[in-house]
Amino acid sequence: MSITDKTRKTLWAKSGNRCLLCRIELVQPSDGATENVIIGEECHIISSSDKGPRGNISYDGDYDGYDNLILLCANDHKRVDELVEIYSVESLRLFKVVHETWVKTTLERDVTAFANDQQNIKSLPKITSDKQIVDIINGVHMFDFNHDELRTEHEATEVGGLFEELKEIGDILSDIGYAETAKFGVHLNEEVEKLRLMGFVLFGMRRKLRLRNSKKEDMGVYDTASIIAVRQDNPSIVGDFLIAKFPTNVSFGF
Ligand SMILES: [Zn+2]
Repeated sequence: MSITDKTRKTLWAKSGNRCLLCRIELVQPSDGATENVIIGEECHIISSSDKGPRGNISYDGDYDGYDNLILLCANDHKRVDELVEIYSVESLRLFKVVHETWVKTTLERDVTAFANDQQNIKSLPKITSDKQIVDIINGVHMFDFNHDELRTEHEATEVGGLFEELKEIGDILSDIGYAETAKFGVHLNEEVEKLRLMGFVLFGMRRKLRLRNSKKEDMGVYDTASIIAVRQDNPSIVGDFLIAKFPTNVSFGF
């Protein structure tokens, strides 16, 4: 038996061109002078030979099937096959699931953000529940809050107060327990309702922002919570979305 084309394609695609352990790129791009260099190797979790790495474990499946293969860089392939005590069958299977999930979720997030940034115009979904707000603010690096003109002190207190609270909570959400998060959720729903009675609707999404410092140097990409409080009669509201124009690059004074 040998590894089929289908298995090979599946393995490489699901691995996202990255080594399972060190995440180095497995096809190193051409630099113009050299061609692409392939450093990825298909590694058996359980060797078909009794004397091979982890070959003492019994296996009913196809040794060359997708379930028994992982993709590694040449260095890690060597390490994994020598240090079989550390790299047990269970741990390699677990690493594989973690890695392929990481590839999938990372790509999905970035593809969505990229598609949005292409047009620079985003449609922000209406926020109707505490759950949405929690998903937007949980663990982000930055907050990007905005609002329509505030006409009274009462409006300023309510809208400004909610934004301040979201900033504080966003930083600690991952540390507080389920009961506290649920309590905060109830409170959030009350706040959203209060704003609605004042004539405001919240729209928002979690997105990626590229930052530049005052010298225009690239400071990297940051998860950002964008929430906007707009008046119900704002003409940019289309159904359950707010059509808004956003900068994709933000200058930051650090
Ligand atoms: Zn590696």
